[in-house]
Amino acid sequence: MSPVEREGSLLASFSADREKGSEAVSPVAIVWPCRLAVDEYAAAGRDVGFPRLACPSCAGPLVSWSGYWRYVREAGRCRKISVPRLRCARCGASHALLPAFMLAWRLDAAGTVGMVVTEVAGGGCGVRPAAERAGVPYTTARGWVRRFRARAPELGVAFAALAVELGGQAVTPPAGAGRFALTAIGAAFAAAAGLPGWRRLGAWRFASSVTGGRLIAAHTTSPWFTVGSRRFMPPIPP
Ligand SMILES: [Zn+2]
Repeated sequence: MSPVEREGSLLASFSADREKGSEAVSPVAIVWPCRLAVDEYAAAGRDVGFPRLACPSCAGPLVSWSGYWRYVREAGRCRKISVPRLRCARCGASHALLPAFMLAWRLDAAGTVGMVVTEVAGGGCGVRPAAERAGVPYTTARGWVRRFRARAPELGVAFAALAVELGGQAVTPPAGAGRFALTAIGAAFAAAAGLPGWRRLGAWRFASSVTGGRLIAAHTTSPWFTVGSRRFMPPIPP
């Protein structure tokens, strides 16, 4: 099986999981600021320790409910990891609890996506060399860059606002929406890194955490990504 076919089948199996779960439940994912390496997380199986979180819909208590397995690819290798599903004791909604090294509905780790997007949308190189360095198919990398560029104006504004909200520098938008979004993500992470726990997470796990894994998702709003209102950052586990 070629890498592309393998990726296709992995994504298909993941989508099947998602379809199964989404009949009765909300498809909302919560991303928790996990600092474990992908290998460490995979090795822990179902025994990863998770933070206690409140329901993003109603702030009710979330309890363990079920879970599923899925794949994450990093540095050209796929690992099978456990994703728990939590259920709100108050409103009944269920939420998948993703570690911050993942993006929702993406096979590749957030850091890999971030590396490619930074190189290409930042103007450093074209998609092909960036995809080769990251060890991902060209079409996959091209898809990330297109999606990032499409969302860049919105991401730039939101992350720039988050930077200021966290006490960081106001962003002077550089030319180009892609560069603006990258600069704003960098500024927001720099501001977050002044708070306990966030620096060690790195910029792309941070970005996945605050967007609910939807950094490059199509038309979607994260429950956490409500800059300027109630809640914009998930809690750092102790
Ligand atoms: Zn709830």
